[in-house]
Amino acid sequence: MSNVVTVESYRDIAPQGTIDLIYNLAGRLRNKSLLHVNSTRFGGGVAEMLHRLLPLFSNLGINTRWEVMEGTPLFYQATKSFHNALQGEPQIISPEMYDEYLKVNKRNAKKISFESDFIVIHDPQPAGLIYKKLRKTPWLWRCHIDISRPQRKVWNFLKEYVFKYNGTVFSLPSFAQKLSIPQFLMYPSIDPLSDKNRDLSSAEIEEVMNKYNVPRDKPIILQVSRFDRFKDPLGVIAAYKLVKKHNDSYLVLAGGSATDDPEGLQVLHEVKEEADRDKDIFVLDLPPDANLTINALQRAATVILQKSTKEGFGLTVAEAMWKAKPVIGGAVGGITAQIVYGQTGFTVNSIEGCAYRLRYLLNNPDVCATIGANAKEYTRRNFLVTRHICDYLSLMVLLLED
Ligand code: UDP
Repeated sequence: MSNVVTVESYRDIAPQGTIDLIYNLAGRLRNKSLLHVNSTRFGGGVAEMLHRLLPLFSNLGINTRWEVMEGTPLFYQATKSFHNALQGEPQIISPEMYDEYLKVNKRNAKKISFESDFIVIHDPQPAGLIYKKLRKTPWLWRCHIDISRPQRKVWNFLKEYVFKYNGTVFSLPSFAQKLSIPQFLMYPSIDPLSDKNRDLSSAEIEEVMNKYNVPRDKPIILQVSRFDRFKDPLGVIAAYKLVKKHNDSYLVLAGGSATDDPEGLQVLHEVKEEADRDKDIFVLDLPPDANLTINALQRAATVILQKSTKEGFGLTVAEAMWKAKPVIGGAVGGITAQIVYGQTGFTVNSIEGCAYRLRYLLNNPDVCATIGANAKEYTRRNFLVTRHICDYLSLMVLLLED
């Protein structure tokens, strides 16, 4: 099998008509160029999505560039605080930090070539580059985080720049702010041909399960998440303990250790302590590039949890749904856009609710199969990279033909 993925590679995967729609839209954008700017080439969902999207745009004949802005330690400190403050956490941000944000944005604006027909700036870090806007070129601000309840001071500072854009794009309507410029909705996406999501053979799945010594003689309940309090791994263990009194099963908690996040290490430590008392709980501390491992674990699982108490979009849910698994998720953030209650999974609000739905699914394999099939189809229609490309192309057509 050739490793080169083209738009055509998705013809039998995406919903019927999608690929032709993509060609049709791309045909109206022939010889146009597109520039994406963000603040990191690796790590995080935005970089991961850009890595998958860019070759496909180029394959469509759209001259696509991806520029990464360069910061300083003080700049990253400032933007990390902006990030937290925009998501509602109180932060102390000094005048020097605001100055550094502007200085770094200006320095990068001088270095980056904005010669492009369409510009997408991702997240708050490079939002200030807009001051370089050339007349007529549409600039979009693609915000991937929930800024609906920000710390006012930071938002008031940033919105001076955001207003200069031709439009904003948010992942959910509830993540947005009231703005006088056009606002668009674009769900993020997963790539069904990436190592994290592509079909695997039974031997590939088996190899991973053997490597981590996870037996397959009982149903497996899985959560894949960074070890973060908002992902509620201790709540997952508590729900599992309620379930296990009646339904013999294994629990696998798989995630990264995030060595640069002291709280992550603390959470991992607490999770391991809690799990130590039960040999049927497996805590897997995975490296950042464990895509195939995550894929195999999801395929081996019976039910998948994403019991977050606070969440961004929560793409792990779509990843699990794509593998035709029933998912039980916390009723927060983008999880509620992915789980249609009772149809593509269940949303829950408590440990007891989670345990109740786990037992229901474990006791009803036929329901698991129906919900899993619905979940896969729902993901095919709504959360694949091909839909994402359609959204971008439609937006480009709309704004360029304005
Ligand atoms: N992920 C990963 N390794 C881990 C934990 C998570 O690769 O150890 C991936 C996961 O498969 C998903 C992404 O990181 O693709 C997490 O995205 P999500 O939106 O669910 O949550 P976030 O971590 O961004 O809050």
